[in-house]
Amino acid sequence: MWCSRLLRAWSAAAPCSLLRQHSALAHMTRILEGELESIRGAGTWKSERVITSPQGPHIHVEGSRGGILNFCANNYLGLSSHPEVIRSGHEALEKFGAGLSSVRFICGTQSIHKSLEEKISHFHQREDAILYASCFDANAGIFEALLTPEDAVLSDELNHASIIDGIRLCKANKYRYKHMDMQDLEAKLQDAQKHRLRLIATDGAFSMDGDIAPLKEICQLAQKYQALVFIDECHATGFLGPNGRGTDELLGVMDQVTIVNSTLGKALGGAAGGYTTGPKALIDLLRQRSRPYLFSNSLPPAVVGCASKALDLLMESNAIAQSMAAKTKRFRSKMATAGFTISGQDHPICPVMLGDARLASVMADDMLERGIYVIGFSFPVVPKGKARIRVQISAVHSEDDIDRCVDAFTEVGHKHRALP
Ligand code: PLP
Repeated sequence: MWCSRLLRAWSAAAPCSLLRQHSALAHMTRILEGELESIRGAGTWKSERVITSPQGPHIHVEGSRGGILNFCANNYLGLSSHPEVIRSGHEALEKFGAGLSSVRFICGTQSIHKSLEEKISHFHQREDAILYASCFDANAGIFEALLTPEDAVLSDELNHASIIDGIRLCKANKYRYKHMDMQDLEAKLQDAQKHRLRLIATDGAFSMDGDIAPLKEICQLAQKYQALVFIDECHATGFLGPNGRGTDELLGVMDQVTIVNSTLGKALGGAAGGYTTGPKALIDLLRQRSRPYLFSNSLPPAVVGCASKALDLLMESNAIAQSMAAKTKRFRSKMATAGFTISGQDHPICPVMLGDARLASVMADDMLERGIYVIGFSFPVVPKGKARIRVQISAVHSEDDIDRCVDAFTEVGHKHRALP
């Protein structure tokens, strides 16, 4: 009553332009509330749990009692809270300051940016590398800079959203081939022969399914049809392949993949940042033309320091990656024995396939009540009817952690009739 009188008084006094703005805002709010309600109604609402401790296998989550076992970070090698990585971040912060207040080409390039770029290209055995604020930016910036309307890009239909968005931004002719379907890729390559350049773009490891792109076959087709190969290695860099170089090393095609984009925000210390590594001419062009590089701030020194140390640790030894692989095997085989279907190959992304979105969501909530943090994924992140709980294994999980997770899944699976 008091409120509506006040509103009437305000309306009488308010100028016309303010009233119009007010009604536009009310109109927008009604539309948004309808959208939000439909997301809730579909059971696909994504809420964010608040962590009150550093990232790691054991975390504290607001609203939960005691420690929580964390199985949903991309912290594959456990380097996010590695003491040497943290120390290196501190040192870079002390020595080089909080940030650059500038893009790279104006006055935002420090010696540590150059040496990290060198380290990345050395790690991947490529000619050069360029840093971005994220791999999302690296993917957003490459296709538009490299490809013109004379060219063609051929993209796996399940590629990461950032590749899809990056391709949308470019003016090349676009072909989308069925997920990992080499017959379909070949047909599209034949059709694309009329174009100047052909670039095949694929995730190295697919983050929702834990499956690995058939790079050997892709590279054979690329050779046959004179195409270039681009891979996104966010879920491979640091741990796939004998020396953790990624999917191209795992499948023996390092010399045939032209361009690698990856992140510093997952296995490589988990802070932030992304990069492209590949031929020098391409990296030179990206420094001139790639919009997320040209028009966004330089990576903060602490972030550079953390990533740089993570790479040092990986180049010294692959023991951490091997430990992660052994734990992944343990989890996958115990879950299969318990009766669950785990998608993908020997990858630390272990999607527990459930089908129904609500089932995935309530099972994830019940897991948290048992002290295990996992997340349910449903449409639109994954196709309708293919909801799942994605479990991610880290080198710093103990065998006991893995077994506790499997036991909790078994209990919750029986409770919700997800197991026979
Ligand atoms: N590409 C893939 C396959 C990813 O999973 C992600 C992150 O979720 C990205 C790119 C974006 O990486 P960043 O977090 O560095 O922006």
